[in-house]
Amino acid sequence: MMEHEMHPPANKTTALYVVATPLGNLGDITLRALEALRTVDAIACEDTRHTRRLLDHHGIRAAVFALHQHNEAATAQKLLKLLAEGKSVALVSDAGTPGVSDPGARTVAAVRSAGYPVIPLPGPNAAIAALSAAGLADPQFLFVGFLPAKTSARRQQIETLRAIPAALVFYEAPHRIVATIADLAELLEPQRTLVVARELTKLFEQIATMPLADAPGWLAADANRQRGEFVLLVSAAPATQELPADALRILRLLLAELPLKQAAKLAAEITGQHKNALYQQALAWKDQKL
Ligand code: SAM
Repeated sequence: MMEHEMHPPANKTTALYVVATPLGNLGDITLRALEALRTVDAIACEDTRHTRRLLDHHGIRAAVFALHQHNEAATAQKLLKLLAEGKSVALVSDAGTPGVSDPGARTVAAVRSAGYPVIPLPGPNAAIAALSAAGLADPQFLFVGFLPAKTSARRQQIETLRAIPAALVFYEAPHRIVATIADLAELLEPQRTLVVARELTKLFEQIATMPLADAPGWLAADANRQRGEFVLLVSAAPATQELPADALRILRLLLAELPLKQAAKLAAEITGQHKNALYQQALAWKDQKL
């Protein structure tokens, strides 16, 4: 018996099937996903026209209805009604895995709390595809997704991510890529590695690796590099450098009187140590409440 036959066929089970769909290349869909889409009674999708293209490509005729972030609460009720009638339903988003920077979580929660099974059908996801081809050595990663659109909120969030000892994974759209990369390059350590994964699985797929400091220039050098859909990966924060005892003492004294950033800057001027190392040390003390 093949693995995918272990669940009963989709049309025999009243359940919500959460189905991952391609990021671009219509061939990136699993056998289980095709079987579920073929056999369910209805498919809830973000954009019905978009999903129709995928269904047409695979010769699937199915009833579809829209479930997107603006109607998710109301449409989840419609979906529950179908399940109450004994029907099976699939949930898909425009690309990749529903619920990952996409609608779906509220629907899934409603279905599960109503007591119906929710069956995940795993498949494409832009973050995981980018990580798989990035070659970063970090054993851990933090999926951040989209940063805030507003500059001040975006910069603030980047500051909070700075000392995390894991690779950072961001999603970004073309109209914000220049601003986001400029902020990452300015606020994170310049020697950290940036991987730009653009248009994954599509015609103009590009995966480029560079020190974060070089990224704004790389992006500006060719307007095509600013087009399409992006996953950005930044290697983990460098380990805190060993600082000499007198630098630590001065930093402590300054921290007692000044805000963290200012204390680190002044301590760097006094001791000749790197500002980032002092800043990271101060952050670590603050996190550990030392
Ligand atoms: N649910 C999707 C997933 O599982 O990856 C993510 C949907 S989110 C609304 C769309 C964002 O995902 C894009 O702005 C981009 O950051 C990323 N993305 C989606 N498709 C991509 C692709 N082919 N190449 C690079 N990034 C992609």
